[in-house]
Amino acid sequence: MFTEELSRLTKAGLRRSLRLVEGPQGPRATIDGKEAILLCSNDYLGLANHPLVKQAAIEAIDAWGVGAGASRLISGNMTAHARLEESIRRFKGTEAALIFNSGYHANVGCITAICSRDSEVFSDRLNHASIVDACLLSRAAFRRYPHRDVDSLERLLKKSRAKRKLVATDGIFSMDGDIAPIREIAGLLDRYDAMLLIDDAHSTGVLGDRGRGTLEHLGVSHPSIIQMGTLGKAVGAFGAFIAGSVELIDILKSKSRPFIYTTALPPSICAASIKALEIIEQEPGLRMRLWENTAFFREGLLKASLDTLGSQTQIIPIAVGQAQRAMELSSRLLEKGVFIQGIRPPTVPEGTSRLRVSVTAAHSREDLTSALSAIREVFQ
Ligand SMILES: *Cc1c(COP(=O)(O)O)cnc(C)c1O
Repeated sequence: MFTEELSRLTKAGLRRSLRLVEGPQGPRATIDGKEAILLCSNDYLGLANHPLVKQAAIEAIDAWGVGAGASRLISGNMTAHARLEESIRRFKGTEAALIFNSGYHANVGCITAICSRDSEVFSDRLNHASIVDACLLSRAAFRRYPHRDVDSLERLLKKSRAKRKLVATDGIFSMDGDIAPIREIAGLLDRYDAMLLIDDAHSTGVLGDRGRGTLEHLGVSHPSIIQMGTLGKAVGAFGAFIAGSVELIDILKSKSRPFIYTTALPPSICAASIKALEIIEQEPGLRMRLWENTAFFREGLLKASLDTLGSQTQIIPIAVGQAQRAMELSSRLLEKGVFIQGIRPPTVPEGTSRLRVSVTAAHSREDLTSALSAIREVFQ
């Protein structure tokens, strides 16, 4: 039934398949039976397999069982959910927070709840797919502006006659590792009566002195900013949140379909996130190690004359171009004991396939040095 379509995908280098990771996430892992340095996990602080985080999850299973049994609004709203929302609210310093079952749910759940036919959404061209899907599903007019181009964004805002205007941007761009010009965008909000949604999937726990995200990093605050963050990346667990005003959170509770029509997260996962957020607050050294490793690795790539596409963070792409070549380089690296996933369309635009490195705090200097020499060899 799908033979032709599948072979077309194969020919274009776009057929996807799963690699198997045996054992936990960590700086090294067994991938498809081969021991390798793992350089494409979003477990940026090494918390996914942290003993205290695991223990918190195990104790929560003993206390509260495994499943939440129902959606939050029926009977699935348990102590662990309330405590996690309180932790997030304090961590982010916002009036309120609401957890979602994943970052995908959070973006779709927020944008579709606050935007409709009479709205207009302005989205950076390189935003994550979940923002794009959310905009399409909301039925709002959907405008994409060139990557990080605030002048183009302003021209679009100026033309808009929509009743509600929402600008949406990744904080750290997930495939490029650069940071959105939030200060400049925030400067437009009052003038054009717009709101801003920042997707801090990759910035939560990573950016800012206390790991609170892009706003802390840039020293920006504005009442019309809505922050989304995920708990499955640097926080090491699973799930996501929207943080903002009490009124926003109340609207989401009443109108957000991905919040209303889904079973609540398992309480043990919430307990793991609570513990991980505590560690993030108490151990700034983890974040410092992440930044040192990031600087070391990026410099190593630049010295080898590789193009890192302007990355400013722990996400460091290496430009390749063609999809097949990116996948071939990824396989050759795995043979050499380094796992870096190739990224190709539709995740990134045509002709911009790349290897996407993510460095973590858990990597040793030795891991990073061997990975750099393997990369230099395959790119020769
Ligand atoms: C990973 C990611 C998401 C989705 O978060 P999940 O919790 O994995 O569903 C959303 N936005 C961005 C920018 C991401 O990188």
